[in-house]
Amino acid sequence: AKKSGRNRFAWFDESMERELKARNDLEQGLRIAIPGGQIVPYFEQQIDLATGALTGFEVLARWEHPTRGVIGPDRFIPIAEETGMIADLSLSIMRQAFTAARDWDQALTLSVNISPWQLRDAWLAQKIIKTLTETGFPASRLEIEITESALFDNLALAQSIAGSLKNQGVRLALDDFGTGYSSLAHLRALPFDRIKIDKSFVTSINEAPDSAAIVTAIVRLGESLNLPVTAEGVEDGAIAARLIAMGCAKAQGWHYGKPLSPVGVRSLLAERHLI
Ligand code: C2E
Ligand code: CA
Ligand code: CA
Ligand code: CA
Repeated sequence: AKKSGRNRFAWFDESMERELKARNDLEQGLRIAIPGGQIVPYFEQQIDLATGALTGFEVLARWEHPTRGVIGPDRFIPIAEETGMIADLSLSIMRQAFTAARDWDQALTLSVNISPWQLRDAWLAQKIIKTLTETGFPASRLEIEITESALFDNLALAQSIAGSLKNQGVRLALDDFGTGYSSLAHLRALPFDRIKIDKSFVTSINEAPDSAAIVTAIVRLGESLNLPVTAEGVEDGAIAARLIAMGCAKAQGWHYGKPLSPVGVRSLLAERHLI
């Protein structure tokens, strides 16, 4: 028994060590990746449900790793947050996305995610506005998506950042609404312009009556607060039809297409004469 116990610990140590090394490799790689231009924006279509028209894109970070292929944000955003690299990463993504989008049809908007960590930076609004000015992308075409309870860390600072952005004409969306990190209290904390329903409710809307009830309630809440609602995670036409019947304003998800690379988004827009 003693021997197998030791083996178990040895195995545990090894797997922990492997995990630590993998994380360390990613951290080291990320230091080079950000200035090296390996962290790039992908673009997910956002659709007006009433008309079916493309209204803009959500910007999603991707790491085009030289040897490992494309790495998703769930792998590297947490590392960027823990190491403080998120500020540079975020501004680099914005700079690239604004530069790409400034010549597109002027009706097309961009929705950019920011990490709750960034709401602790007293200069965040100024940095975003400077990036808008330098790239020539109009503030009125930008929406910032905010999530999570870290908002309440320093609510006064978050409110002042939100106020500065709104003064310039930037809009704010409350992301992942309905999950533990994004709730009713948040809606009153900052001057939001839009609610985004978390995809966990949307993907199961036609299978789980509870999900349908929750989505209906959020759409009604949006109506009474005068906040348009976007549903994310629309994976098929049946989900889209259900959302249209509920009066949801916008949708995004695989039904409309997987997030596009900068090259992919250009050819989509060229096809539709939007560029
Ligand atoms: P999110 O903001 O909730 O983004 C939506 C996620 O759902 C994206 O994952 C998107 O690819 C995925 N998705 C889109 N359509 C569907 C669908 O129909 N079904 C399903 N099951 N999933 C769908 P992704 O790109 O892996 O991003 C994960 C998270 O990483 C994002 O969640 C966001 O919180 C964060 N993130 C991405 N880019 C950035 C960034 O530039 N800065 C910060 N701070 N966070 C980012
Ligand atoms: Ca988002
Ligand atoms: Ca979301
Ligand atoms: Ca999320």
